Amino acid sequence: MSREDNKLTLPGERVASIEEFEGGKNTYMTPDGTVRSATVGTTVYDLKRRIVKIEQKNSPMLPKVGDIIVGYVEMMFSSMVSIKVLYINDKWSEAGFSAIASARIGSRADVERRGDRRATFHNGDIVRGRVISLLNSTIHLTLTEKEYGLLYALCFICGGDTVRTSESTIKCVECGAFENRKLAHDYGKESFRLVLKAGK
Ligand SMILES: [Zn+2]
Repeated sequence: MSREDNKLTLPGERVASIEEFEGGKNTYMTPDGTVRSATVGTTVYDLKRRIVKIEQKNSPMLPKVGDIIVGYVEMMFSSMVSIKVLYINDKWSEAGFSAIASARIGSRADVERRGDRRATFHNGDIVRGRVISLLNSTIHLTLTEKEYGLLYALCFICGGDTVRTSESTIKCVECGAFENRKLAHDYGKESFRLVLKAGK
């Protein structure tokens, strides 16, 4: 006897606790005793043997290498950012994919200033990137090239609207705060609006 979840499971998603089910095909366990999916697919619970596995689906909506992604920053790690995918090649994506990108993309000036190439990101930042790899069913993006990086962000202090003031700085129109960021060449509210429009 088995039960199949209709919804698409994404890499890293929790599918069971180890007390409930043992991890089968395409799963892995985290130290807290959580069984997680290692791929994109359908979760199948074998209720008799108490094993959970993920049946891989070749979803046509899974991005390909070279695809352009627009999404928002949902989580930050020391040198990585996790990005919730909203658009793939300007088409709205309902799959709820998450992609990851290296935050080590700062300019040479950043290295001189901070001794590090780590770019600043905040939760909710709208970013554009290009898919460079799908290793282990994880969507890896690059934000390095000039078309990629921060597409639009609200002020990190007051949440106000921001405008670009130089190649790598934005300024809040409300409180005047400046911030150094890795900007896409067409940074701004208008560009994000165009993406929203195209994706409909
Ligand atoms: Zn502000």
